Amino acid sequence: MGLFNYVKAVMPCPNCQEPLDSWQSKRLSVRGLLLANAMQSVVPDGDMDGEMHDICFDCNMAVDVEIENGQPCNAKVSPLITRR
Ligand SMILES: [Zn+2]
Repeated sequence: MGLFNYVKAVMPCPNCQEPLDSWQSKRLSVRGLLLANAMQSVVPDGDMDGEMHDICFDCNMAVDVEIENGQPCNAKVSPLITRR
């Protein structure tokens, strides 16, 4: 829970290649300065580092991606755990 930022990016799911475009992040920095988590829409650029997360509802995976110099890297998927 709590505040986060939106990351305006489109990236295919590493598991099924479905394009994902609802990225959220609680840790983004620009030139080393941490951005406030204030529900802002952030466009990654070459000065940005951090991480972002999305959920692929096509294959039910949580997708976690690191951002280095504005580029997504080290994408990881893990099975979505649903609680209901
Ligand atoms: Zn997927």
